[in-house]
Amino acid sequence: MTTYTGGCLCGQIRYAFDAEKLEGGSCYCRDCQRATGSPMTTVTMTDTLRVSGETRTYSLQSAADRTVTRHFCPTCGSQLFTDAEMVPGARFVKCATLDDPSALNPMANYWLSAAADWAPVDRSLACFAENPGE
Ligand SMILES: [Zn+2]
Ligand SMILES: [Zn+2]
Repeated sequence: MTTYTGGCLCGQIRYAFDAEKLEGGSCYCRDCQRATGSPMTTVTMTDTLRVSGETRTYSLQSAADRTVTRHFCPTCGSQLFTDAEMVPGARFVKCATLDDPSALNPMANYWLSAAADWAPVDRSLACFAENPGE
């Protein structure tokens, strides 16, 4: 088991979690685009997240009508992790905020139906138009 660490731009919020192998997926949905200002957001799922510092949150109904709560730093605004009603107990950490983002092994792309024409997409990964099973 390896402990992975990361944090926000200003350093006020830090986090750590444990994983055997760091695997994740990229979401190209419009909510993730707007929340992060990026063509996609790449996340890994964990149930061992420890957070130091107080995040602010913003909750919204997803396209599939489930509540998604996004945690961000109240000072610098970095988006750090998300709670999704559809996966209780798990948190989705935004991997570009890891201290070592290259530790991630991307496995899949989601919501490509909403991707911008210019968004970089790795077609060698599993690709889904929306979330699998929705
Ligand atoms: Zn910050
Ligand atoms: Zn998304």
